[in-house]
Amino acid sequence: MGDLLLWVMLFVLAFAGMEFVAWFTHRYIMHGFLWCLHRSHHSERHGLFELNDLFAVFFALPSVVLIYNGLNGHAFQLALGLGIAAYGLVYFMFHDGLVHRRFPVPFSRRQHFWKKRIQAHRMHHAVETKEGAVSFGFLITRPVERLKRELANRRRS
Ligand SMILES: [Zn+2]
Ligand SMILES: [Zn+2]
Repeated sequence: MGDLLLWVMLFVLAFAGMEFVAWFTHRYIMHGFLWCLHRSHHSERHGLFELNDLFAVFFALPSVVLIYNGLNGHAFQLALGLGIAAYGLVYFMFHDGLVHRRFPVPFSRRQHFWKKRIQAHRMHHAVETKEGAVSFGFLITRPVERLKRELANRRRS
């Protein structure tokens, strides 16, 4: 029973930790030295894929390794690997499906929880340059009104 609890805790920790990793990567790396890849996500897409999709592959790698080890006798690594994969799936479904409408998803855009996140992410996309963007997180966001004010302040300065 103790093992199961620990397993679930590690899964949740990996899932929640990925929101931080995603925020940090987006804030300091994608809008930093790898802007050359992320820029494609801040401009109009031509075709099915964008260079920015490479980040999904990059994020999937540790998950694949952990799941592989998990299936080969290290149960706790499976928890971490599946936690990362679950976050990736949620990010893909909602960021790419629900927000950017790259494919249909069976969820409503009007649902309060997602509506807030969609609005916050739209605020992020209000800026098409490397500098000056707001709202880098995805699941954890600040109120849209605050983001709007922050964006307006940045434009003025
Ligand atoms: Zn961005
Ligand atoms: Zn986006």
